Amino acid sequence: GSQSSFQARRSRGGCRTNTSTKLAASTVRSKVEDEKCEIIINGRDMKIAKPGNLYTGTARNIVHAAYGLDGTGFHLKDYEFDTLLQKKSMGFRNTTAYAVSETGGKFALYNFERRQPAADDVLVRIHYCGICHTDIHVVNNDFGMSQYPVVPGHEIVGVVEKVGDKVKKFKVGDLVGIGTQVDSCRQCKPCNKDLEQYCEKGSSLTYASTEQDKVTRTQGGYSNLITVKEHFVCKVPKNLKPEEIGPLMCAGITTYSPLKKHNVGKDSKVAIVGLGGLGHMGVKFAVALGADVTVISTSESKRQDALRMGAKHFVISKDPEQFESVQNTFNLILDTVSAEHDVGALLNLLAFEGVYCIVGIPAKPLEIPVFALLKKPLVVCGSGVGGMKETQEMLDFCGQKQITCEVELISPATPEILAKAYERTLKADVKYRFVIDCQKTFAEAS
Ligand SMILES: [Zn+2]
Ligand SMILES: [Zn+2]
Repeated sequence: GSQSSFQARRSRGGCRTNTSTKLAASTVRSKVEDEKCEIIINGRDMKIAKPGNLYTGTARNIVHAAYGLDGTGFHLKDYEFDTLLQKKSMGFRNTTAYAVSETGGKFALYNFERRQPAADDVLVRIHYCGICHTDIHVVNNDFGMSQYPVVPGHEIVGVVEKVGDKVKKFKVGDLVGIGTQVDSCRQCKPCNKDLEQYCEKGSSLTYASTEQDKVTRTQGGYSNLITVKEHFVCKVPKNLKPEEIGPLMCAGITTYSPLKKHNVGKDSKVAIVGLGGLGHMGVKFAVALGADVTVISTSESKRQDALRMGAKHFVISKDPEQFESVQNTFNLILDTVSAEHDVGALLNLLAFEGVYCIVGIPAKPLEIPVFALLKKPLVVCGSGVGGMKETQEMLDFCGQKQITCEVELISPATPEILAKAYERTLKADVKYRFVIDCQKTFAEAS
């Protein structure tokens, strides 16, 4: 019956040495698309959705279920079974990474599979990846949503190694950046306004999230390779040092976007609260946009750096005299602090119609004295990273103005060094971002 004919085909296919009849994974994919089917590959598992049918399981079982045991379902008879089932021809790239496999666990080497680029994908060899506070939150499951193993990292810079057939923006060898998101619905109102980070269907975050199929888990940049839709990849200016660019994709755009939105320019007086990874980028951007910039910090030790980065003034928030001297001064305060702090006192530093924009994420809700808002009046708002169009604009601006992130390079990373870097990041004992040299770290991987 059909069982035996299937096996006969399989064994025959397996013995064949003539490769000319074997079809590439991309061809299989487009044939499947011709049939109005969707093929979703997740590790060794695969889903094929036909109108009215959804097949889920291992690739081998799906082939049985979707195409019948004799393989005569739509075009599959044209394919070599064994070729289809082989990992490589199914379109995977072995990827080596550092992952954590339990809450607060230690990093260990982890091998998994990324998809080969589909028509609108680029495959990027990761050169550097920054260490963001969010990475630590996810490793420690501070948001209560982590799944393990998790490969963190969303401050990625690398070189394009392969492009899909329909990719227009990139070619092999291009230096590119990848930030906090790798996909979104591309159809909702925020997506249509180039604000994919606010996608109403939920954008696909670079790690600890899923692709838009809501099934395939995403893994981040502490790895040697990543496959991303070209829309979510940015071109990196060639005149900047690649190891200093990764953090622009998160810390950079997070501070650039609100400064632009609130029209910061040469007539603006801007205060940046906190001089860490976010804050130091905020200072550089506000200065480059022509603003008169004040850094407000708890630590005198940051004064020199703040002034070197172009801030005109430095205020110690705990010093009542200094604090008093900047009352009613600023058009915009960009608050980058994640620790608990007195927002009410800072509101008094805003001038008429001032804006208080929050980009740090304190664990507890902030207390806001409403009377302070009514008096001038003031706006309190938040901002989350930036859309892809604006992220590209930010990178181009960095190229023009020679702006990069100040980094401590980890080369190569080991589990011990990563643990130490996390410890120091939590203590704000880093100037101003750790960056992993992924090429050195994963030099053994292909
Ligand atoms: Zn981040
Ligand atoms: Zn959307």
